Amino acid sequence: MPRNEPFWNPYRFVPVKSDNAERKRPLTCEKFAAGSFSGEIVCSLVNLSPLFIGSNSQATSRPFLLSKKNNKPMIPGSSLKGMFRSLVELVGGGCSAISTRGVTPEGLQSCSDNTRLCVACRMFGMMGRGSNAMVLKGKVSIGDALLVQGEGRTKGMNVYLGSPKLTHTAFYQSPNGKVDGRLRKFYFHQPARQDLLTEPTGKAADSKWQIQALPPSPDNRFEFKIQFQNLTPDEYSVLLYVIALENQVSVSIPQEKGGPLTYSGPMRHKVGYAKSLGGGTCRITIESVIQLPHPKERFSSLTSSKLVLEGEALLREISEKTAIYHDDSSLTMQKLRTMLVWSDEDNREFRFPDYYWFKDGGHSQIALKPV
Ligand SMILES: [Zn+2]
Repeated sequence: MPRNEPFWNPYRFVPVKSDNAERKRPLTCEKFAAGSFSGEIVCSLVNLSPLFIGSNSQATSRPFLLSKKNNKPMIPGSSLKGMFRSLVELVGGGCSAISTRGVTPEGLQSCSDNTRLCVACRMFGMMGRGSNAMVLKGKVSIGDALLVQGEGRTKGMNVYLGSPKLTHTAFYQSPNGKVDGRLRKFYFHQPARQDLLTEPTGKAADSKWQIQALPPSPDNRFEFKIQFQNLTPDEYSVLLYVIALENQVSVSIPQEKGGPLTYSGPMRHKVGYAKSLGGGTCRITIESVIQLPHPKERFSSLTSSKLVLEGEALLREISEKTAIYHDDSSLTMQKLRTMLVWSDEDNREFRFPDYYWFKDGGHSQIALKPV
């Protein structure tokens, strides 16, 4: 993490592509354009490191959220939506849904006019602020991920999640050296600790609590569905990309001493809590895509029917539609790959500096190691 230390900070900031989110009138049912996409994506999810989704409990031992349908661990669709939305904001160039007031450039401020929306608000909806705020329902809806295979047995793990040290501004700087809201936070995966989360030590151990996390197991498999309506080709492409990501990337991270660290492997998602402790790494796989015909054709013709993409045809669809992002070597995409790569060769130690490190005035200007 900080320079001159052997360990790495669990998170980094990825710079946005542009200071201006492109805004457009959203395509709605009434203004149906030829060539738009509607249908459903079926996804499976397997956690590769301990996963924890909390229920509303302040108990010292916090249970995993259970589904009322099967009484097994579940991941709410709202958690998945938040994760996909923030990826669309970064990859597709959307507004900043969480405004960092005063420091976010004008062109990146949250959308507030429902006739001029960025890609993320067109897809996932817009929630205006204030008393006469406009609200627009999105064109993408995501269901809860339910455990469809395995028992989902959880295990007690001790955690301590400190609050971010916002006062240490040296950790929050854009490439231009300013703290200016042009950054998005991502947590590194921690392949070296796949089964357990980082145990709190020192002063942090005094404030630890226990969570019932789901350890990684090939037996457990979740499934969820994503419904989409009237997506333009660009919106459909970015949706497929943020779900599928990339199966093979190679990244190179400069070191203070010696040659760069190089890792290769697939890009993976991070879901739920305890991300800084190594938790939440998930493999999400698109199992099938169902495309529905134009709404007018849906009822008027017997010949038009839905198109189900699976196997080879599905892989071809994903690879064609997401090629534009695979070929994108912008700084944003390079850094995103660096953050999301899941590589067996990655044995870095990730942790926050402790209480005393922040207390030491001599550390006030020490920035993070470059990635
Ligand atoms: Zn927006």
